[in-house]
Amino acid sequence: MKPGHPVIDVLDFISRNAEQRGETPLSAFSRISDLLPAQVLPVGDADSAGAVDGLVRWSVRGERTQHGKRYLHLEVSARPILICQRCMRPFVYEVESVVPLEVVTHQAALDEDSEIDDPDMDAPDRILAQASQSVLELVEDELILSLPYIPRHDYACVQYDNQETPEGTDKKPSPFAALAALKKQ
Ligand SMILES: [Zn+2]
Repeated sequence: MKPGHPVIDVLDFISRNAEQRGETPLSAFSRISDLLPAQVLPVGDADSAGAVDGLVRWSVRGERTQHGKRYLHLEVSARPILICQRCMRPFVYEVESVVPLEVVTHQAALDEDSEIDDPDMDAPDRILAQASQSVLELVEDELILSLPYIPRHDYACVQYDNQETPEGTDKKPSPFAALAALKKQ
């Protein structure tokens, strides 16, 4: 077992109610690194610069419920830089993920219907218990799942914010402004 690349025996981990946590560079996750743009912000984006540390913080905790169900509770937080698909600028996306993974001991149980009484609750994802499960693989799966399909700035895009438009006015460009621009050429 390499330091920084923890591997757990899932059933043993759960029976001990064990917990592990760590910080791992985002760049150490090769599958997600392939999906991400360069992890740099434009020069001068001081607002967001402090939030980017290139780290993934994670923890995993084992639990066996009174009803005999086994869980790994996974927490993942990170601030990857994504490209906004509206303005095509990089921005910091906040991942704060807390998920239970139900651990099953045989393949067939992966597909069984879940017995959850509350119809509003999503059934947790299931994983098969492994004797040597890479924790970072679970963390990376969760990271990938928590990235938006179409990344976009939360509110207005940066370029709109930077326009010298007084607060509260209609930010749509006037059609006359476009005409004026044409005339200047
Ligand atoms: Zn944007």
